[in-house]
Amino acid sequence: MATVVQKYGGSSLADADKIKRVAERIAASRQTGCQVVAVCSAMGDTTDDLIKLAHQITPRPDPREMDLLLSTGEVVSSALVAMALNSMGHQAVSLTGVQAGIQTTTLFGKAQITGIEPKRIRKELAEGKTVIVAGFQGFTEENDVTTLGRGASDLTAVALAAALKADRCEIYTDVEGIYTADPRVVPEAVKIPDISYEEMLELAMLGAKMQPRSIELAAIYEVPVLVAHSFKDSPGTLIHREAPMETRNKVRGVACDLNVGKITVLGVPDRPGIAAAIFEPLAQAGVSVDVIVQNASVEKLTDVSFTISRTDLPRAVELVRSIAHAIGAKGTTSSSGLAKVSIVGAGIQNAPGYAARTFRALADAGVNIEMITTSEIRITCIVAEEKAKEAVRILHRAFGLESGS
Ligand code: ASP
Ligand code: MG
Repeated sequence: MATVVQKYGGSSLADADKIKRVAERIAASRQTGCQVVAVCSAMGDTTDDLIKLAHQITPRPDPREMDLLLSTGEVVSSALVAMALNSMGHQAVSLTGVQAGIQTTTLFGKAQITGIEPKRIRKELAEGKTVIVAGFQGFTEENDVTTLGRGASDLTAVALAAALKADRCEIYTDVEGIYTADPRVVPEAVKIPDISYEEMLELAMLGAKMQPRSIELAAIYEVPVLVAHSFKDSPGTLIHREAPMETRNKVRGVACDLNVGKITVLGVPDRPGIAAAIFEPLAQAGVSVDVIVQNASVEKLTDVSFTISRTDLPRAVELVRSIAHAIGAKGTTSSSGLAKVSIVGAGIQNAPGYAARTFRALADAGVNIEMITTSEIRITCIVAEEKAKEAVRILHRAFGLESGS
């Protein structure tokens, strides 16, 4: 019998009525003859509300207690979904992360799954029951309850699908799938029927958001993941290991990230060890650096520019100022009004002309490109934030994405 792991997001479980509808959907899947394990997120904004509540008690809640508190959100929704199924005449049982055998590290708030011992899940499935698992949680060797990070019910679902060797993992949410661009920015954006894990990692912000760690895990274990709407019968987007067809549009989508800040270190002495001197302290401070550009040096002086997430900008600027002073650079500048616009698709690097078409389309529209970076599956331009949406629309049109990929 086929085994399917499903995951229902918090917005699909926000009230009693929605919980009943989710239970109906699970029952319908069960009736197609497969075994179902359904992972639930906490109802609506429960997790945010619990965090606020904790902060009303103390400004710095103990991490262990915080995780025990937050884990209750998904326990509530799971028990309610199981109750709804039982009341509809279906046999269902809900399990916490501990009962489901999800072992983790002790990093409270961001624990990593070290292994899954799904004995109990298997036993319940063998007895013909549908198993509902509380998402986003596990337990340590010491039997302490941990949580896996915000949005990590996706991770629970993919990890369970891998451990149970499920036929597939279905992520049900409040949008219909992954789109060629954010439909709020590009009204003619179309839903992508299927996509590779690597492309999905780059496009994760378009339409359905999936937690990136869950996509990485799905790629490692080759778990096919369907992202679809919880209550609509539309086909969704299938994320899987696919061999890209030569004939299809190599650009799958246009992504945009507004959370970009840039720092430039001016007049840096051009000698070995300088880049390390700048980037090591940033790494130690947990600031992740994205695009790096170093100019050709003139009279043994060079400029080094790089982007980081805008939220890290204030502390990074402070750090870089003191580094610049220490290495004898002329100064530092920073700007926050930037955005990152990318075309994404497997194979664009091996096909000529994609970079040229990107730059031509932006130039014709008068969009200035500040920095450029590429990967095997992506061409990224850093542009002014106020031009970002226009740039997305232009590139979407330039690569004919409105006609489907
Ligand atoms: N309830 C948790 C959160 O809001 C986990 C999840 O929804 O996946 O982050
Ligand atoms: Mg949630």
